[in-house]
Amino acid sequence: METKELKEKLFYEPENVGKASNEEQLKAAAAFCEDYKQFLDEAKTEREAVSAMIRRLEAAGYVPFDPSKKYQPGDRVYKNNRGKALLTAVIGTEPIANGIHIAASHIDSPRVDLKQRPLYETENLAFFKTHYYGGIRKYQWGTIPLAMHGVMQRANGEPITICIGEKAGDPVFCITDLLPHLSRTQDQRKLPEGLKGEELNILLGSIAYTGEDLSESVKMNILNILFETYGITEKDFVSAEIEMVPAHRAADVGLDRSFVGAYGQDDRVCAYTSLMATIHCTNPKTTLVTAFADKEEIGSVGNTGLSSSYLPYFIEDLADMQGVPVRRVLEKSKCLSADVGAAYDPTFADVYEKQNSCFVNCGVSVNKFTGSRGKGGTSDASAEFVGWVTRMLDENNVPWQMCELGKVDQGGGGTVALYVAHHDVDTIDVGVPVLSMHVPFEVTAKLDVYAAYCAFSAFAKA
Ligand code: MN
Ligand code: MN
Repeated sequence: METKELKEKLFYEPENVGKASNEEQLKAAAAFCEDYKQFLDEAKTEREAVSAMIRRLEAAGYVPFDPSKKYQPGDRVYKNNRGKALLTAVIGTEPIANGIHIAASHIDSPRVDLKQRPLYETENLAFFKTHYYGGIRKYQWGTIPLAMHGVMQRANGEPITICIGEKAGDPVFCITDLLPHLSRTQDQRKLPEGLKGEELNILLGSIAYTGEDLSESVKMNILNILFETYGITEKDFVSAEIEMVPAHRAADVGLDRSFVGAYGQDDRVCAYTSLMATIHCTNPKTTLVTAFADKEEIGSVGNTGLSSSYLPYFIEDLADMQGVPVRRVLEKSKCLSADVGAAYDPTFADVYEKQNSCFVNCGVSVNKFTGSRGKGGTSDASAEFVGWVTRMLDENNVPWQMCELGKVDQGGGGTVALYVAHHDVDTIDVGVPVLSMHVPFEVTAKLDVYAAYCAFSAFAKA
């Protein structure tokens, strides 16, 4: 054997598919990302993501899950968990006792939430107090246009949906910051304190309500606008879930348009790609369950996060229909924890270990483990399962790469993987590399987005 040939046989290097000669793939990826961008604009919160997904599921023939029914192979159902998380199932032709396939992503993203008593006035300016949600770098959230999304209830319990700052002509909101001319003291702060938590105040207005002698007349005017528009009062904010999110829309990035830039791609990129794989999956061999979870960004907590039992309960309902104990199903099941990877950024090369990083245009990132400080807090997939998944990807010509979250001891993170693995399911993280993850404008490569769709589709029919 020639030395060159031998080297090719012995060495391993993931392939970069970002080549102009990959015309077909580039075209397919660009076309796929058109509806993806639309979805990102429709789904800036977990609740909006659930609605946007149900619209697409119902158009594809999915119906609400009814546990009293006995579903047949090919049947397609969804279960809405409190409007903030979603489960779908396509019943397989093989008995459920053989195990199921689960794809689990999350649909919450880091953001700035309103406090429960948010409104205040100072020096004739009205503001909202906020409490940020998830891992944000607070200084990045100042001085960008923000939109207000969420739900409230009127005094009589009637629900209302709020969305301001998305339609053309809508006002937007912002968090102010210092001008460089006066920032000498602030400039000495450490970056995480560039803007402090209690400085993330949302600018709301400045016009005073006109009437008799009145204190807090700007706040009064804001409340009056809210009452006239929505029929709500200050007390109604107590139960509100209002999220301030970047007002910008998803866009192509780069002269070659090879990227998608948008808010909330962690993890709506995996939610969307696994959703489309589910929708396009007809008559699978193995029953396919796709989960879209809330609260991943703050530890998968609460009854809409995946540390809750709603996923195993749903699988138990499916198992009951075929008279199988759920634990017999779970121990034979496989899960792709569909979450993003930290794409190698050459500008900040220091924090990555290049050989084990994921790169844009090299396909889906496969994380055997996540966690921090010696794999702490991760589910660490088995050799057998890593082998099964990578063979499955290879057999379907899906570009993929192994990935670790930065250098050892540089930081770390987690996903929903350990919560699914906890139920005795083989689980591994598979997702899309993201540049500037968790910032207001995250960047993915279209080829990788499309690779994720192909990966979840291959898993669905495996
Ligand atoms: Mn994520
Ligand atoms: Mn995240």
